[in-house]
Amino acid sequence: MFADLHLHTNFSDGTYTPEELAAHAQRHGLCAIALTDHDTVEGCLRMALACGQAEMEFVPGAELTAELAGQELHLIGYYMDSANAKLLAELAKFQTVRQNRIREMVARLNKLNIPLEAAAVFAIANCRSPGRPHVGRALVQAGFCSNLDEAFDRFLKRNRPAWVPKSKISAVDAIALIHQAGGVAVMAHPGLNHNDDLIPPLVAGGLDGLECFHTKHSPTATERYLDFAHKHGLLVTGGSDCHGMNKGQPLIGSVKLPYHYVEALKSKANEVAQANNSIALALPPMPNPLHSAER
Ligand SMILES: [Zn+2]
Ligand SMILES: [Zn+2]
Repeated sequence: MFADLHLHTNFSDGTYTPEELAAHAQRHGLCAIALTDHDTVEGCLRMALACGQAEMEFVPGAELTAELAGQELHLIGYYMDSANAKLLAELAKFQTVRQNRIREMVARLNKLNIPLEAAAVFAIANCRSPGRPHVGRALVQAGFCSNLDEAFDRFLKRNRPAWVPKSKISAVDAIALIHQAGGVAVMAHPGLNHNDDLIPPLVAGGLDGLECFHTKHSPTATERYLDFAHKHGLLVTGGSDCHGMNKGQPLIGSVKLPYHYVEALKSKANEVAQANNSIALALPPMPNPLHSAER
């Protein structure tokens, strides 16, 4: 029994719909999959339904773009309450930042005499969490670049002329946000950061797990992170980080996480939810009935 706990759909920068993703997962014989779209939980409802139809277990999630010591890193929140008011308010902020970033990238392209319109990018993205691949696809569609790689190499990569830095939530705040929403906080693809010194401060900040298995981790990196997770009592997760057809080949099926790791993740989520409930019970009743209905 195998799972893939890192997947994207067209609710962020993946190309598959939740239904297409479920079909691919089923073809690869997976018994459980997570949806971890960037800065959104919007696709989770449809993904849950699609998994239900395919008789697969669904693990809700979202991948948050965070920062520590000036470095971007990604944190996945699993099993968060998708109706949590604070989570939804913060995600809405992240999405606004993403949309403004698209407008700024387009403005930079316009200055380079590339008359792309932000509306064309938003039409392709058709979601609240647009990203650079959508700008790239718009450039290709309008004939300014012949493919996505060219769009990134010429304009969109870090320090290329249309690249705009992202503003991000602090990693420790992101972990707290995930926990207050009843979720489990996992650092995604630590190997892509090339800086393992980032991990201990995250652990001190309450990190619950490490994505040890990832498409871009070498076997040695995987071993190193498994070892670290073991020593620090962290959960182990893994996934393909499949974005459909957006980033080269569809990666689903390339990482198969043994199911017992999903069970450990689930019991941790139950612990977090129980701890939150006991905090809520210990608090004096709120004077405003709207507030007490919020959680
Ligand atoms: Zn990531
Ligand atoms: Zn990802």
